[in-house]
Amino acid sequence: MELLFLGTGAADWPHPGPKVGDNRRNCSLLLNQQILLDCNAMTLDALNEFQVDCSRISHIVIGHSHSDHFDFDSICTLASQPRSTALTLHLEAGSAQKFPIPDGLSGNLQLQPFTTGEEFTVGAWQFQPDAANHPMADPQEQAVHFLLQDPDGKTLLYLLDGGWPPEKTCLRWQHTYLNVIIWELTVGIETAFHIFSHCNAQMLAILETAFRQRGMIDANTLQLCSHLARRFCPPQPELQRQLQPYPFRPAYDGMKISC
Ligand SMILES: [Zn+2]
Ligand SMILES: [Zn+2]
Repeated sequence: MELLFLGTGAADWPHPGPKVGDNRRNCSLLLNQQILLDCNAMTLDALNEFQVDCSRISHIVIGHSHSDHFDFDSICTLASQPRSTALTLHLEAGSAQKFPIPDGLSGNLQLQPFTTGEEFTVGAWQFQPDAANHPMADPQEQAVHFLLQDPDGKTLLYLLDGGWPPEKTCLRWQHTYLNVIIWELTVGIETAFHIFSHCNAQMLAILETAFRQRGMIDANTLQLCSHLARRFCPPQPELQRQLQPYPFRPAYDGMKISC
């Protein structure tokens, strides 16, 4: 699978404009040049800066509707650009009802709601959405993490965003070996009250150990961190130094990986 990190920042990053420099945009990840995981108001600039061929993007999958992960206007803009096939937007059922497709875009954008706990396909990928520990203002909406399987059978666990995952959710993953895991490290190595809805490095170290003991990950698992808050995470070189004792590395905007 090929990953391109279009944004690795939590919600507290200001919009950097067309060039991200040493900053971070809100989280978004491009899979195999075709599937966008999260699309926010900063994502179009990232696609442009990192020279992505947007006509190849066929699916957008959203884990929850907070504005640092989801911007419907940006998605409509993307859909309205020239494309050979319609863009499919996958939204959790509780959120989907709030975003009817505008009439003028019905040929370019289609909505495909998914249900928490029920697998669905995205092109040749398999997605399993499971409940995250991340409060939503509307009780109808459920934030989810995604366990993905690519067309070659490789797996990726995308944990944005939310704090310590619910036990029921972890039990759903326990028999799956993970090739790649993208942790949520909003709080960095700090200990702030944000840990009750987000993770810090110490929490991830415990989760990582529990996953390792179950055989879900090993030394070959690629472990990266995203959703890094500006107020808790220092610039990339210092963050890398802070995370040296841990088995996970911080991602950065524009990071591209084939694995
Ligand atoms: Zn977020
Ligand atoms: Zn959120």
